[in-house]
Amino acid sequence: YDAKHRGDGIALYAAESDHNSPRRLSLVADLRKALEDPEGGGLNVFYQPQIEISSGEVVGVEALLRWHHPAYGPVDPEELIKAAEPSAVMRQLTRWVLAEVVAQLARWRPMALRLRCAVNVSVRDLHNDDIVEHVTDLLREHGVTADQLQLEITEEGLMADPNRVLATLAKLDKLGVAIALDDFGTGYSSMQHLRRLPLAEVKIDRTFVFGMREDPDDAAIVSSIIELAGALGLRVVAEGVEDEPTWRMLHQQGCEVAQGWFYARPMPAEDLLAWIARTTLPGARRLASRLPAA
Ligand code: C2E
Ligand code: MG
Ligand code: MG
Ligand code: MG
Repeated sequence: YDAKHRGDGIALYAAESDHNSPRRLSLVADLRKALEDPEGGGLNVFYQPQIEISSGEVVGVEALLRWHHPAYGPVDPEELIKAAEPSAVMRQLTRWVLAEVVAQLARWRPMALRLRCAVNVSVRDLHNDDIVEHVTDLLREHGVTADQLQLEITEEGLMADPNRVLATLAKLDKLGVAIALDDFGTGYSSMQHLRRLPLAEVKIDRTFVFGMREDPDDAAIVSSIIELAGALGLRVVAEGVEDEPTWRMLHQQGCEVAQGWFYARPMPAEDLLAWIARTTLPGARRLASRLPAA
């Protein structure tokens, strides 16, 4: 995380100068091709477990996009999303990820694995409400219930015009798809978002979580977010938990759910089952006992 992602003056400048860079243009063009490729063109969805701290139960996963570009190799998801967002290709990408995820949820179901999966969407995907129909159709087609799907939106995306997305969020909420506010604490009007959007969850930005062991200010921010979320009846998830002391601190502060490299990195769907089977978390062991023997 650097200045580029914090929405200051440098960010604007960098975004503009990058906008027509040859690399961005070729990423967008190649992404279009990849999305037309029935094999996915190097696109993949990885899944990172989300764990309830008190029980060790795997309560869900977050879907994270991966792209192995034919020439560039692995592309940083943040770069990819930034490149795609201003273009119409973003909408296709979001649809592709949603379709992959809902199909995967349907594949897990016969294995008695009923996980909730969070999908990141760009706020621009919500300017128009056709995403609601797309999600409704996918869920029906695969026999997946709306409560198994969650959407994450970032504060950064909301800064421009939160009103434009309110109607779409309300429809998704009514459908039963929970909405999480991602990267909480990094935006300019976090409190406004908490008041006005139909949210079920806030995710504490990983930059605060990284710092909380050593920086008392970060620790204070994290515990305030946990308290605020609790008072508002929102679920709170800490992301970026890389070590046990941070895990313990979060537990002491009353954080319910965490995800991070300390327990698991994002992984392909096939590896998730193996991870659940071999992990030592008590809740994961309970899940593993329901899986068919490998
Ligand atoms: P995010 O939604 O905030 O996702 C969390 C990021 O933190 C992921 O980065 C994840 O791999 C990383 N992470 C999780 N635990 C740890 C940890 O313990 N330590 C460290 N250092 N990192 C950790 P990733 O996968 O690189 O994705 C970056 C961002 O790209 C995401 O941030 C999200 O905003 C965006 N993104 C990823 N996939 C998609 C997608 O399918 N659609 C959209 N619109 N955005 C996506
Ligand atoms: Mg996210
Ligand atoms: Mg985040
Ligand atoms: Mg982010």
